[in-house]
Amino acid sequence: MKRIAILGSTGSIGTQALEVIGANPESFELEVITANNNADLLVAQALAFKPNAVVIANEDLYEQVRDALQHEDIKVYAGANALNSVVEMGTVDMVLTAMVGYAGLQPTIRAIKAGKEIALANKETLVVAGQLITDLARQQGVNIYPVDSEHSAIFQCLAGEFHNPIEKIILTASGGPFRGRKADELSKVTRAQALKHPNWEMGAKITIDSASLMNKGLEVIEAKWLFGLKNDQIEVVVHPQSIIHSLVQFEDGSIKAQLGLPDMKLPIQYALGFPNRLKNDFPRFNFMDYPQLTFEKPDLETFRNLQLAFDAMERGGNMPCILNAANEIAVAAFLREEVGFLEMSDIIEGSMAKVAYIANPSYEDYVTTDRETRSYAAEVANKLSLQ
Ligand code: NDP
Repeated sequence: MKRIAILGSTGSIGTQALEVIGANPESFELEVITANNNADLLVAQALAFKPNAVVIANEDLYEQVRDALQHEDIKVYAGANALNSVVEMGTVDMVLTAMVGYAGLQPTIRAIKAGKEIALANKETLVVAGQLITDLARQQGVNIYPVDSEHSAIFQCLAGEFHNPIEKIILTASGGPFRGRKADELSKVTRAQALKHPNWEMGAKITIDSASLMNKGLEVIEAKWLFGLKNDQIEVVVHPQSIIHSLVQFEDGSIKAQLGLPDMKLPIQYALGFPNRLKNDFPRFNFMDYPQLTFEKPDLETFRNLQLAFDAMERGGNMPCILNAANEIAVAAFLREEVGFLEMSDIIEGSMAKVAYIANPSYEDYVTTDRETRSYAAEVANKLSLQ
């Protein structure tokens, strides 16, 4: 029986993780759930699953959640600091980091320091501070299990191969809703169009990242740290059907792939249940429904965010942290319809050129870098919105 804390239980990954936990009561027990603003759903989840504790990050909503749960034996906490404390609870074995963005960094660090296993969906944590997080996990003897479908695929391909060096990995990308489009068309795309992903139903931020290919860029950096790879060992191929979730090539030239329908419940279940494969009734893949699986080279000139992510990884230090912070600001401004789709790359590129580079950042350097980048990127986004 694994006792699980879900950071971000009201989101796309969080709600699917609850389905997995609900379907496997003999394997998992829910200890903690958390949300940012969605108090109603958090309360409904608490009433359904009866966890030990809930956290609402937005402190203004504390009384609402406390009152709604007053007749239950459930502890209610509020605020960002409470997220850091609940992951350390003695009754928690594994923390599923399903929060979005940089906000996931601190609770992930606290969970690792407390020796909790990590099921990592919050890729931004590894993008911002991959070296720090992986060093810490190694020191603490903590395993980080990938939830991202591509990284789960690689992890699954590596089962039984841990002593065989990887020659390279190939991350697949759907290409998003704007695959094949050129810059003049992309300059006019709307928020609604960008939020329509062809294959996956996800939260708003990652859906925009998928449309701009930033998501793949973040995943490249995430893979580097998760699997201890050199930069030139990571390739991206566009595979519009999202059936092959990623591949590993070994030193004998053999390639292993993991396939399945695009459904996040499978990688979530694999991460929570590792090393076991739990029986389920998720829809099965059938080759006859997909007579063609196709592959293309990513268009790095049009989708500049992917190139910027490769550049940030190559530069190292705090550059991926700058990339991430600028991207979070750019995506938020695009979602508010204040900047255009291509202007997101301008904001990121400008921030990477402007914010001070640090080759060997400490945790405090990441905090400062994140703050300075957000401030600069917001200024640029604001200027663009007034044009
Ligand atoms: P969602 O936007 O759907 O959910 C985010 C969750 O985090 C919600 O529970 C939200 O609470 C909470 N949250 C957001 N901001 C904060 C904050 N500042 N403090 C505390 N809690 C916060 O995101 P997704 O589920 O789509 O994605 C979560 C993470 O998983 C991301 O890092 C994403 O890149 C990654 N991921 C997602 C995939 C997917 O299929 N969705 C696939 C692979 C990776 P509230 O609801 O109250 O706002």
